[in-house]
Amino acid sequence: MPLPKLSDAQIVWVSRQVAGYIDTQRQTYRPRAVPLDRNQKTAVQSFFPAATLDSARVVVLAGERIGNPPFYGELIKMGFALASLPDFAQMAAITYVDTVVLHEPFTGRVLFHELVHVLQYEKLGLEQFTAKYVSGFLNGGSYEAIPLEMNAHELDARFAAAPTKSFSVANEIQAWIDAGRF
Ligand SMILES: [Zn+2]
Repeated sequence: MPLPKLSDAQIVWVSRQVAGYIDTQRQTYRPRAVPLDRNQKTAVQSFFPAATLDSARVVVLAGERIGNPPFYGELIKMGFALASLPDFAQMAAITYVDTVVLHEPFTGRVLFHELVHVLQYEKLGLEQFTAKYVSGFLNGGSYEAIPLEMNAHELDARFAAAPTKSFSVANEIQAWIDAGRF
């Protein structure tokens, strides 16, 4: 089912809602999230800047799922089918700026993927990250087609295929920014 065509004003409104939601979720989860442990850092330290790994926090939820954003009702009024919107409770993990919230104990690849998002937020800032995430979703028609997700997926796959062959995630993200791919 195709997504509805939104006006520019509606896109701005949705982006603002998403940014506010991300900020609120970060504040909710950050107090009980913990720094990466030594093993987690060791596994990915040759891919990410040390400052990014130091600032990241993770929380693994137990007996609790992340709810969908409060503005989903408004999106449905705008013409979105609920099934076309990302269902947060079904996602393995979600990153709110520098705080990774997971529904289950995670693998190195999932952690890597979420840390790519931490670095994307760091480079773009919350406002720009959100605007590009929303426009990517609206243009691509699905969660998987969002360029910020495609970038993270491409890099986590590269890591999973060769976990000791280091590369700079920061450079890879920057190359996508410079090429206007987000
Ligand atoms: Zn992702």
